[in-house]
Amino acid sequence: MKEYSEISGALLEWYDRCARKLPWRGIHDPYRTWISEIMLQQTRVETVIPYYERFLSRLPALADLASADEAEVLKLWEGLGYYSRARNLLKGARQVMELYQGILPDDPELLRKICGIGPYTAGAIASIAYDIAVPAVDGNVLRVYSRLFGIRDNILLPSVRKKLDELASAMVPAGRPGDYNQAVMDLGATVCVPGTPDCAACPLSGFCSAFAAGDSADLPVIPGKAPQKTVRWTVAVLCSGNRTLVRQRTESLLQGLWCFPLFDCSPADAPSLLEKKFRLRSVPSGPPVHARHVFTHLIWEMDILSLNAGPELPAPADYRWVSREELDTLVFPVAMNAALKEAKKLLSSPGLS
Ligand code: SF4
Repeated sequence: MKEYSEISGALLEWYDRCARKLPWRGIHDPYRTWISEIMLQQTRVETVIPYYERFLSRLPALADLASADEAEVLKLWEGLGYYSRARNLLKGARQVMELYQGILPDDPELLRKICGIGPYTAGAIASIAYDIAVPAVDGNVLRVYSRLFGIRDNILLPSVRKKLDELASAMVPAGRPGDYNQAVMDLGATVCVPGTPDCAACPLSGFCSAFAAGDSADLPVIPGKAPQKTVRWTVAVLCSGNRTLVRQRTESLLQGLWCFPLFDCSPADAPSLLEKKFRLRSVPSGPPVHARHVFTHLIWEMDILSLNAGPELPAPADYRWVSREELDTLVFPVAMNAALKEAKKLLSSPGLS
C-alpha cells in the first residue's frame, strides 16, 4: 500500500477537476455546512438543493433559526421527510445561542453534544467549516475505504468498524481536510457507488486493493444479504484468423469491462447458437474448461469453450474482433481470467498466426 498522502493527493487532484458544483461548497460557514449536512441525510442531493436555498434565504443566520418557531421550520422542511431532523436543528440552534453565543464550536467533541449532531456531522462541520483534520465517516466512506484497503470482514462488527475509523482518521490530510472529506463523499456518490463501481473512472484504482483483486462489487461485506443466485454460462472464446471476438459490457454488472460472448446454453449447443445469432460457423478446438466466479448476489458457473471459426466476417453489432496484442490493452473483469487465458493460448498457437 502506498503512502496515505499519495492517495489523498490523487483524490484531491481529482476533486479539483471533478467536484460537484453544490450551493454549500466553497464557503466557510459552519451554519450552512450544518444545514446542508442535516438535509443530506437519507436524501438525494438534487432534492436537497431547492430546500437548502429556500431555508437559507428565509433563515440566513443561526440566530434567525434559533428565534424561528417550530411551525415555520417544519413548513420550510415540508416534503423533505424525517422531520425530527428539523426539530433537532431548531433545538440545536437554541443550544448554540445559549452555550456558544450563536457560533458553532470547532471541536468535534463539543459539536457532538449539540442536539442532532452525530459523529459524521461533527466531522463534516469541523473539517469543512474550520479546516480541522478529522474524518467524516458515513456509509459512503465506509464503502470506499473497505474497497480501497481490502477490508473483507463484516463492517458491522465493532472491531472492523474501529479499524475503518482508524484508517479514515489516518487518511485525512492536515492541509485541505474539508475538501478531502468532500472528495471522498463525491467519489462514493459518483464513482465508487454501491453495487458495481466505475473503477475505470476512479482516480484511486492504482491504489485500490479491491480493484486489484477484482472483487470491488463484493465489498463492503454486510451480513444478512440474500443468498446468491447461480447463473450458468457457456463462454465462447471464438477465434478467426489471429483475432478473437469480444464485447464491452453495457449491463450494470461489470459495466464498461470487456467479455467474451456469453451464452446461456450448454457448450454442446454453443456452435449452433453462434451460427444462428452471429452467422459464424465454428468448431470446438477442445473440451470446455470450467471456471467459477462469485459476485455479491451472484455466482457465475462458466464452461469456457474455445472455437475456431472460418474466415473473419464483420463483427456482430456491439462486438469487436481483436488481436492478441489488443487483448492486452482492454480491461477484462477477473471473472473472465480463465477465458482470457484460453484466448491468449489459442491466439498464440502457430496455426493461427
Ligand atoms: Fe472504488 Fe473501484 Fe475506485 Fe476502488 S478502484 S476505490 S473499488 S471505484
